[in-house]
Amino acid sequence: MTTTKTADVDGTLAQVYALRGAGADIVRITCNDVDAAKGLAEIVPRSPVPIIADIHFQYRLALAAIEAGVAGLRLNPGNIRKEDQIKTVALAAGEAGIPIRVGVNAGSLDKDLLDKYGAPVPQALVDSALKEIRYLEDVDFFDIKISVKHSHVPSMVESYRLLADVVEYPLHLGVTEAGPPPGGLIKSVAGIGTLLLEGIGDTIRFSLTADPVEEAKAGRQLLEYLGLRERTGLDLIACPSCGRAEVDVIKVAADAQAALEAENLPIQVAVMGCVVNGPGEAREADIGIAAGRKKGHLFIKGEVVRVVPEHEMVDALLEEARLLAEEGVEARLAARDEDAAKIAMEEAIELRGIQGDANRAEEKKAAVAEVAGE
Ligand code: SF4
Repeated sequence: MTTTKTADVDGTLAQVYALRGAGADIVRITCNDVDAAKGLAEIVPRSPVPIIADIHFQYRLALAAIEAGVAGLRLNPGNIRKEDQIKTVALAAGEAGIPIRVGVNAGSLDKDLLDKYGAPVPQALVDSALKEIRYLEDVDFFDIKISVKHSHVPSMVESYRLLADVVEYPLHLGVTEAGPPPGGLIKSVAGIGTLLLEGIGDTIRFSLTADPVEEAKAGRQLLEYLGLRERTGLDLIACPSCGRAEVDVIKVAADAQAALEAENLPIQVAVMGCVVNGPGEAREADIGIAAGRKKGHLFIKGEVVRVVPEHEMVDALLEEARLLAEEGVEARLAARDEDAAKIAMEEAIELRGIQGDANRAEEKKAAVAEVAGE
C-alpha cells in the first residue's frame, strides 16, 4: 500500500513503480477525500499494476473511485455500516465489473460486534465479514474477497481458519499493524506463512511500519521461500558461523549480498565460513564460496572451481555469478581451474587435521573404544 498523498499523482506513481519493482502484483491506494479520488483518475491509467482503492467511512468515495477506473475496492465493514450504502456500492462495482474486498480489521471492528463479544475475538471478525457478505450477496454481488486482519498473530491465524471453514471466497492475508522490522516481519511471516502452508490464502500484504518497498520485498520473498512463486532474484544462504570459521562470515555475507543484489541475478548463492563443512552443506546452491586459510574456495553445485586469495572472495564470487548466469552450470564447470579441486581437498584435510573433522568422529571412536575397555 502506498504512503503518499493520493492527490500527489507523480509521487504516488513513483511509489507504485517502486513497489512493482520490489515484487508487488497489485497496489492499494487510499481514497480518503475527493482530491484523492481525482488523483486516482490520473494514477490508474498510468499504473503498471492493478490499483485498489482503500475506502473508509464514506461510501461516496467508493463510487468516485469506481468512476476513476480502479481495479477493485477495499471496504471496511467497521466504518461503512449502512446496509443501503453498501448495497449501492456493490451495484456500482457490479456494473463496473470489479471486485470488492471485505476488509475486516480488529482495530476498527463493527461496534455492535465489539459490544457483543467484548473484544475483537476471531469469531467477532468472522461475523463482521459474514454480515457484510450477506449485504453484497443480497444484490447478487459475488465478486468478493475477504480479509480478517488482527495484530495478534494467534488471533489472526484463528480468524482466517474459522473463515476458511465457512466461505469459498478468496482470502487476503495480513497481520495488521505489525510494526517496524524486525518484529513486524516476524509477526507477518508467522501469521501469513502458517496459513499459506495450510493452503489458506490467495493474496497477502505485509503491514510494516517501514518503506512500503520493504513490505513488497518481504511479501515476495516469503512466497518464494514457500515455493509459491518462482525465484526472480538473489537467494543468499550463509552459514551462521561458528568457531571453525576462517573469515568474518557476517561481513563477507553482507558484502556479497550488497554486490549480488545490485546484479539482480536469479540464483542461489552460498557463503560458508569454512571449507571443512561449507561446500558439502551448500552443495544445493548454484554457486558459493567457503573460507579456507586466507583463501576462498569458489564452488559451483558443490564442486570447487577456483581457489582465490581471501581478499578477493567477494569479487571472485560476483564475477563467477555473472558468468554462471550467462553461460550456465555445465560451461562454468568445464571452465574450472584444473588444480582447484586438488588444492581445496588438501586444504580441507589440513584444516580437519587442525580442527578435528566435522563430526569429531576420530575423537568419538577413541572415546567409545576406551569405554568399551579396548
Ligand atoms: S560452514 Fe564451517 S564455519 Fe560455517 S557454521 Fe558450518 S562449520 Fe561453522
